[in-house]
Amino acid sequence: MGKQEDFVLRALEERDVRFVRLWFTDVLGFLKSVAVAPAELEGAFSEGIGFDGSAIEGFARVYEADMLAKPDPSTFQILPWRSGDGPSTARMFCDIVMPDGSPSYADPRYVLKRTLGRAAEMGFTFYTHPEIEFYLFKDTPQPGAEPVPVDRSGYFDHTAQSMGADFRREAITMLESMGISVEFSHHEGGPGQQEIDLRYADALSTADNIMTFRTVIREVALSQDIWATFMPKPFTGHPGSGMHTHVSLFEGDRNAFFEAGAEYQLSKTGRQFIAGVLTHAAEITCITNQWVNSYKRLIGGGEAPSYICWGHNNRSAMVRVPMYKPNKGQSTRIELRTIDAACNPYLAFAVTLAAGLKGIEEGYDLPREAEDDVWSLTERERKSLGIQPLPKSLYDAIGIAESSELLAETLGEHVFDFFLRNKRSEWDDYRGQVSVHERDLMLPVI
Ligand code: GLU
Ligand code: MG
Ligand code: MG
Repeated sequence: MGKQEDFVLRALEERDVRFVRLWFTDVLGFLKSVAVAPAELEGAFSEGIGFDGSAIEGFARVYEADMLAKPDPSTFQILPWRSGDGPSTARMFCDIVMPDGSPSYADPRYVLKRTLGRAAEMGFTFYTHPEIEFYLFKDTPQPGAEPVPVDRSGYFDHTAQSMGADFRREAITMLESMGISVEFSHHEGGPGQQEIDLRYADALSTADNIMTFRTVIREVALSQDIWATFMPKPFTGHPGSGMHTHVSLFEGDRNAFFEAGAEYQLSKTGRQFIAGVLTHAAEITCITNQWVNSYKRLIGGGEAPSYICWGHNNRSAMVRVPMYKPNKGQSTRIELRTIDAACNPYLAFAVTLAAGLKGIEEGYDLPREAEDDVWSLTERERKSLGIQPLPKSLYDAIGIAESSELLAETLGEHVFDFFLRNKRSEWDDYRGQVSVHERDLMLPVI
């Protein structure tokens, strides 16, 4: 038993923990949880806790159903909403392993770890910092009903006694008590829309933190009798919810994207990384934006991207190099603006990193930056600048993904096949739906 495992076993006694929840994530990004008694933990650390993988979305075919969840002791935390004065409940994230001890190829956490391993072979650590947006509604969703936001405020609004501000304060206190640092929070552009930004951390911790974040936000909402959603585009007429992610690569303690004196302080490695992300953008969009609804956010406007281009401080660009502060080289980073908060963060980070690394490995050239608002250009102007659109629907995105070697390699055959199969069926369900919009358009005239 290692030091970290010992620490967890001691903490169980000191904090009077009665239940330990073992958390992992299915291929579509939904959190799974099994509660074990503290007495089971020693065994869980050495062998794992068995479960039926065939019952988990994307995990296994029936004949290879036995899988084990092995807790990662470095992720041990007490769950504040489950622990008052009495006994507490804790959680740990798990790695999924097969009965022979090998990692499960279906485990999204493993997909990310494998890609981080590739980065490490090239000498890099990958850091991420997500800006997570979400809406707060007054009630639990009712089928067919238009949701009602908790307020009518907008971007950065400060309103006395606003529900959103109280909500953010409670959520942030809870996140901080679980070791998740929050950098900024504010009201976003839509009514009831909020944003909370997590401090940058290595990508595996950030992905774990995003899973925790989504859980905390929904728990706090329920405790206040409201409803939180990460749905990418809940309203036709209001901005969607994205998860812009700032990324950087470090070589030891040196930021590999930084070069003093270079344009925007951006090193050759940084430029090649962006070139990789742009070159493979269309292939990986079905992972970073995995739902039919995701594409309604990427329609242009609302500060969500719809074209594959980069720019310095250009909010219409898909990749933005934020304004830099002289002598602040270590914070040089790039902002990826496509990703939404309803993604599987492990897979989204893995494919984004893989695209960036490819740019570095192959020495891709960075195209010219987009200086204008790319939405206001004509189709012709965009063409002459070589600016391609992002996929316009889940159907387009799947079509492009199907022939992507980068995606197949990064996800591994199992996740790649499952994912595309699942998404094709989501599209087929959607395709047959008759919408209110169509009825409103046609019934009066035809
Ligand atoms: N809500 C916008 C999006 O969906 C982002 C707004 C912003 O923070 O710039 O990407
Ligand atoms: Mg925002
Ligand atoms: Mg942003």
